[in-house]
Amino acid sequence: MADKIKVLPGKLANMIAAGEVIERPASVVKELLENAIDADGQRVSVEVRSGGKQLIRVMDNGRGMSREDAVLAFERHATSKIDSEDDLYRIGTFGFRGEALASIASVARVDLTSRAEEETAGTRVRIDGGAPPRVTDAGRARGTTVAVSQLFYNVPVRRKFLRTTATETRHIVSVVSTTAMAYPDIAFTLTVDGRDTLSLPAVSNAYTRAQAVMGNTLMNQMIPVTFEDELVKIHGFISRPDAARVSRTHQYLFINLRPVSSRALNHAVYEGYGSILPRDRYPVSIIFLNIDLDQVDVNVHPAKREVRFSDESRVYERLLRAIRLALQNSDVVPVFETDTPDVSEMTPAAAPGSATAPDPGSAVNRRTQIDLFGATNRDGNHSGEWTYTPAAAEQGERDEEGQGAVRESNDGETVSLWQLHNAYILAQVKDGFMLIDQHAAHERVLFERALNTMAHESAPSQQLLFPVTLDLMVPQIALVQEHFDHFGKLGFSLKLFGEQTVVVDAVPCMASNQGVDTLFHRMIENLQEQPEKALKAEERIALTFSSHAGIRKGDALSQQEMNGLVNDLFATEMPYVTPGGRPIVVRMPLEEIDRRFKKPQ
Ligand code: ADP
Ligand code: MG
Repeated sequence: MADKIKVLPGKLANMIAAGEVIERPASVVKELLENAIDADGQRVSVEVRSGGKQLIRVMDNGRGMSREDAVLAFERHATSKIDSEDDLYRIGTFGFRGEALASIASVARVDLTSRAEEETAGTRVRIDGGAPPRVTDAGRARGTTVAVSQLFYNVPVRRKFLRTTATETRHIVSVVSTTAMAYPDIAFTLTVDGRDTLSLPAVSNAYTRAQAVMGNTLMNQMIPVTFEDELVKIHGFISRPDAARVSRTHQYLFINLRPVSSRALNHAVYEGYGSILPRDRYPVSIIFLNIDLDQVDVNVHPAKREVRFSDESRVYERLLRAIRLALQNSDVVPVFETDTPDVSEMTPAAAPGSATAPDPGSAVNRRTQIDLFGATNRDGNHSGEWTYTPAAAEQGERDEEGQGAVRESNDGETVSLWQLHNAYILAQVKDGFMLIDQHAAHERVLFERALNTMAHESAPSQQLLFPVTLDLMVPQIALVQEHFDHFGKLGFSLKLFGEQTVVVDAVPCMASNQGVDTLFHRMIENLQEQPEKALKAEERIALTFSSHAGIRKGDALSQQEMNGLVNDLFATEMPYVTPGGRPIVVRMPLEEIDRRFKKPQ
């Protein structure tokens, strides 16, 4: 029997469209919210019951619809938002497909009331699963209310795939709060099973709205992003590196105020952090990107969740730059009071070991540039300013200014660093204190130094008085051969004898003195164990070197050594995390200390 082609009846076509547009209750909420915003509603309230499975009601005080429009709105491809093909290339509203209401009405029972300003009476339209609409009068104020009940009552498969009420509710909360972030001047409320879940009054700016949605704690850890050129305008907020999360799901992106998902642009944000994010951590970001309407195609995805740019790589590049600038211009690297306060200026109570803060005015704070992104610097477009002053680097300068004497007289007796349990360094910073893990800190310093010497010059080595002969296994010898050049550049002098013997007669100067003879052996063993991962050969060498060559837990450090280490640490690209992803620094803000001592705020 030959198959015959038939044009599908409208109702069936709507149900098919609904399959794409209406995936779950949250999709209905999204479409109705978008309609309310397109209609210039200033107050939008959403009410759901049983995760939206039983009821979804969205009410706005927007421009409303005439009776004729209220009926027409349910027709497929009925929209007031575009007229012509040209409009399709300049879409400034959420809606344009004219599909949402038709789709929803084909898979649920819909009850809409609406009144436009100029109408004398409101209109009520009821549609049950695509049956002809029943139209009556309705007394109401200007605006529109759409109630959707028994979603998917006629699509058992879809109904079966709905998740628990809690899960569906979570999706709905997420839709409402995400949308609300882009429209701070609209008041939103969300009621879940009779409980007020979100209540967002109209506010004047995106930050205040984000605070209401995301919470103060998170927003306090965010830094602002602003960027503008002829192609895009970008503004928003990104998390400080130490506030990064284990999941990627906290990236919010709005293109011309439309929430969209874009792997590419999320990646631009991630890339913007360079190496300063701990491994397997992802930033929280709220990014608003504005671009000319004709540079972006929103007609890509039935639920309009994705967009296409006429030149995505340019947008990517701008966003990446915006993130870098934001990080460079912010106080991501905390201010360290390295300048030793003159002891004579301190009260006796503030002697070393006491917790009394020296007068902050006595510590001169200098600013110097620390390059957080080696790559940016090499491109020559680095413009950031950092707020940490490596004391050693500025020693000469200070001498010229006649302050050298102060330092000299205090040499070996710097009061702002203390060693705890031969393992941690306690440092007083402007807004509290920090604990630095000495081993982790040195690991970071050595890692970057090792990479640097391997890339540029060869590092100085120290000759061993008694060269060390190591008998290695054949696979280990293969490793030595493979990395021979890297070892050489790092400062090892190696000679291979026969099949299994290596003689080490010099080691890198930058290695701490203890156990230098076994350092090489450890590195080889470590290299052997290490899975290849995505690391480059140099990085693997630098990683093993830095984890074995440095200061260890249990090593007593002099004031000078601590100073040097802390200075070196804060001159690295990422002072907060080891190359292996462990934290180096924990901070205790003064506010928190005050709080714990129950000081009145
Ligand atoms: P689209 O939003 O793509 O135009 P919809 O099916 O969502 O398609 O809506 C169809 C039309 O119904 C809209 O173009 C708009 O004119 C009207 N409409 C829908 N919701 C509202 C509302 N809340 N207030 C005013 N008009 C609305
Ligand atoms: Mg719509």
